[in-house]
Amino acid sequence: MLCFDPDERQALLRMVTATFRFYEELNDFLAPARRKQEFSVPCARAATTKHMIEALGVPHTEVELILVNGESADFSRPLQDGDRVAVYPRFEAMDVTPLLRVRDTPLRETRFVADAHLGGLARMLRMLGFDTLYDNHFDDDVIVAIAEQDGRIVLTRDRELLKRRTVTHGCYVHALKSEAQLREIVERLDLARSARPFALCLHCNAPLRAVDKADVLDRLPPRVREHYERFSTCDVCGRVYWEGSHWRNMRRLLEGLLFNDKSAGTE
Ligand SMILES: [Zn+2]
Repeated sequence: MLCFDPDERQALLRMVTATFRFYEELNDFLAPARRKQEFSVPCARAATTKHMIEALGVPHTEVELILVNGESADFSRPLQDGDRVAVYPRFEAMDVTPLLRVRDTPLRETRFVADAHLGGLARMLRMLGFDTLYDNHFDDDVIVAIAEQDGRIVLTRDRELLKRRTVTHGCYVHALKSEAQLREIVERLDLARSARPFALCLHCNAPLRAVDKADVLDRLPPRVREHYERFSTCDVCGRVYWEGSHWRNMRRLLEGLLFNDKSAGTE
């Protein structure tokens, strides 16, 4: 039956107003006037936390915890008039295990698909042993499909890509240079301890296999032949790897990340 009561009709059409506060690096996605402070916004009646958070510019993949009026809420929570919404990224220093996170099913394996601008980062992740698909011909639809099919984490600097509904796990990469990007991802996902350097080919993402020096001798530059004893090869492209300067840089970076972890834990 149709309702013609003018007050009730008014109420149905009314927007609700909710107050938001975003924390830490989530502020980078907001309009400058809304950063690091509470602000009120009108929301459509049926709007959920996810709708509004993304409408304000923050991809859902960047959000780890939402509190509505002080209680943890998920992405599907409809907003009501007067709600106060606090939105947090992954916590570094605070134990949130008693609180319900928005995403409670971690992927079984840490695997990535990187967008076309992140080739340097993709190679560095492979260098640490993390399976990372990358091809500068992948368009957004292909990246989304791969992520969904293989259960991969999308790495990108394109926040619109992370707003896609089917992208459940993604990381917005803030840094511009590959090494800083790697540091950012390793820290955010706490990867330092699960790194397996020298496990994957930087070029093909295929597993490396240890080989005897004698078997690859003819493929080595003279100086490498003199100074190195341990070698691996990729069966896809035939490249040979040894623990040269790239490797030493990577070790230093990893050790730095692990050392940071330790000092944070004991203080
Ligand atoms: Zn290869």
